[in-house]
Amino acid sequence: MISVKLPDGSPRELKDGASAADLAAAIGSRLAKDAVAAKVDGKVVDLALPLPHGATVQILTKKDKEALEVLRHSAAHMMADAILRIFPKAQLTIGPVVEDGFYYDIFLPEGKITVEDFPKIEGEMAKIAREGFVFQRCVARYDEANEFYARYKAIDGGHNKFKQELVDGIARRGEELTFYKHGDFIDLCRGPHVPSTAWLKNVKLTKVSGSYWRADANREQLVRVYGTAFFSKEELDEYFRVLEEAKKRDHRVLGEQLELFMFNEEAPGFPFYLPKGAALWNNLANYARNKLKKRAYQEVKGPIVLAESLWHKSGHYANYLENMFFTKMKMFDEKKPDAVVDVEEERPMAIKPMNCPGHCMIFKHKLRSHNEMPLRYSELGLVHRRELSGVRHGLFRVQAFTQDDAHHFVTPDQIVGEVNMLIDYFKEVYADFNITEYHMELSTRPAKRVGSEEMWDRAESALKQALESGGYNYKLNPGDGAFYGPKIDFHIKDTLKRTWQCGTIQLDFSMPARFELEYVGADGQRHTPVMIHRAGLGSLERFMGMIIEHYAGAFPLWLAPVQVWVIPVSEKFADYAREVHGKLLDFGLRAECNLKDDRLGYKIREASLQKIPYVIVLGDKEQAAGSINVRSRDKGELGEMTLDKYFSQLECWQK
Ligand SMILES: [Zn+2]
Ligand SMILES: [Zn+2]
Repeated sequence: MISVKLPDGSPRELKDGASAADLAAAIGSRLAKDAVAAKVDGKVVDLALPLPHGATVQILTKKDKEALEVLRHSAAHMMADAILRIFPKAQLTIGPVVEDGFYYDIFLPEGKITVEDFPKIEGEMAKIAREGFVFQRCVARYDEANEFYARYKAIDGGHNKFKQELVDGIARRGEELTFYKHGDFIDLCRGPHVPSTAWLKNVKLTKVSGSYWRADANREQLVRVYGTAFFSKEELDEYFRVLEEAKKRDHRVLGEQLELFMFNEEAPGFPFYLPKGAALWNNLANYARNKLKKRAYQEVKGPIVLAESLWHKSGHYANYLENMFFTKMKMFDEKKPDAVVDVEEERPMAIKPMNCPGHCMIFKHKLRSHNEMPLRYSELGLVHRRELSGVRHGLFRVQAFTQDDAHHFVTPDQIVGEVNMLIDYFKEVYADFNITEYHMELSTRPAKRVGSEEMWDRAESALKQALESGGYNYKLNPGDGAFYGPKIDFHIKDTLKRTWQCGTIQLDFSMPARFELEYVGADGQRHTPVMIHRAGLGSLERFMGMIIEHYAGAFPLWLAPVQVWVIPVSEKFADYAREVHGKLLDFGLRAECNLKDDRLGYKIREASLQKIPYVIVLGDKEQAAGSINVRSRDKGELGEMTLDKYFSQLECWQK
């Protein structure tokens, strides 16, 4: 007999050689049916593997995130099987799981695989799934004749130098060589997999791209076939519906269509805001400022270029160097007037990747007392961070962005109160953008960090206490904190239920000491304050990209870059249109008067494409009555009314 522990700590007795599948069956027939894989002492394994005595075993069902990865990886095997049936000369290389699914990198000595082949491959995959082949784990000895190995080689590995390279690597490391077989297909793999191909009925191929063996451009070119898999057809359909919807909402597409921003190779990864984008950006900035005022923040403004030595002190130089921009002084050579030389500077300068050190220096400007704390400094701070071209993505990942940044300088007993205030604050902010779903994550000490263990203990327990005293549910992310302290991150869900990391509250027991910040406590002694870094929207750029997609470009009135268009039905009414336009501007609305030569119908359609919240049409009748005719983007025709009536019935138009 062996004994294993369930996740709740309760023991279970099982026969020698019993597997996780046996354990699931012993617990209940329902669990036996739902079981996908098992987590044995923290490692995900096949259900069929014999359990070691004394192990802690968790049965994974489709509700578990790891189970989905097992499913998707298993689907990669099935896809490889199907591809080999159609392209017998194809050679398999590796087939891992990725964020939204899986891929397999394949070498094709001749021909190619394109999306046109997908229906055929998917048809073959459906057949394999219907067969319900069991995934069988086979251990081979690579140094001697072995049935599994021989069989494997006959299918693919015989002429497959890629797999041979992998096998050689495994041999060198002295690791176990395992294969997985379903039906006649066998592949080199560490596992784990779902029990059988019957689980793989909801699989679809998504795209095909190129890659290189070992990601080395000097090696063989491979074709990468992507797919995704879900446990149910509903989830699979929903995935593609969201994907389709996301394509339509892509902020890069809408940014062009709505003329919000552009990019240019002269400044890669740095957005250029067009007039409407700049208006949208300013709306966000004004919004952030108004919120700050209500919470007794003091706005400050620090320089963008600061001495390199400062970043040594802050720890950024040691921990963040490769993401920083540095300035370099150049001069014309005195002897050779067309040559330029780099000047060795006495005080080399760097461009700030963060606003924190600037705020520390403002705090240090004079002696502080506990009476004036918490001190909350805010800054719409422009920071620059290097991002490799491969990871830059529209407004989501840029090289310069503005944070709605703030730093709270607090006494240790103010931490919990400040963090709770911030949680409430951020919840209010997200509600203003119709974001009602979010969760919090607490990230703790990373491997690369500054400060003593004792400091980290105190910081982590303070954040935990704030979360727990507020009764919030949160997820723990061990090892994911900033290098100077633990943090609470807000993960919000947009209309498409996609998750975005936005707000952050980071505790820092390190930087105030590095900058020798002090305040006089109630005891008359000098103390080091605690610093809280926080951002609600995160980066204005990224947040803007997110809300463009969240609203599909149809911004609420208060946020819309242009709120009203005034359109005269013909040139005859241009003066009246100008008069109405002036009154709208006086009221404070962002209004434009469209006096172009285009026909009325065309202008109205353009307003709809530009997602302008209100269109005011002016003709004979309106001019005679001194009225306006209003059409709302969201509510349709509102008809004729006076300007006063229009103003009085407007929904929230500024925040
Ligand atoms: Zn596998
Ligand atoms: Zn900071």
